[in-house]
Amino acid sequence: MIEKILRTGLGYDLHKLKRGRKFILGGVEIPSKKGEEAHSDGDVLLHALTDALLGACGMGDIGELFPPSDKRWKNADSKELLKTSWERVKSAGWSIENIDCVVITEEPKILPYRLQIRQSIASVLEIEAERIFVKAKTGEGLGIIGKKKAAAALVTCLISCRNIQ
Ligand code: MG
Repeated sequence: MIEKILRTGLGYDLHKLKRGRKFILGGVEIPSKKGEEAHSDGDVLLHALTDALLGACGMGDIGELFPPSDKRWKNADSKELLKTSWERVKSAGWSIENIDCVVITEEPKILPYRLQIRQSIASVLEIEAERIFVKAKTGEGLGIIGKKKAAAALVTCLISCRNIQ
């Protein structure tokens, strides 16, 4: 009997925003006065997604695999961190059913870049962009996100594997 096993994962990330840094989201550079401050490129969406995928199959988290104390990850391209993590998950037999994302930032506006972001993530994971969705919210002018001091992302994913018994 072939049984399909499902697992869900949840990821969250937040980074400070700083003038002079690039704003990178889902591997896409979006024109903005400020960008994410981080050891890596600070891509909150890809960091949350990486944690969601690793968490779904109990393979650790992004901080464990790529510690900020390690110089190798200084200014790291988060697409590479995601790709490396996904290779691990995939080689354990998992496939992605879908990924759902929420980005929370006051600026810049995400909607004009949504399709590009979905396609960027899809190309790293080698899945269809239709399996990935991205929504954007603001901080309604409140708190560190509303005051344009930080950007955050939340990601859920559903992964599956076929277990032949
Ligand atoms: Mg991060």
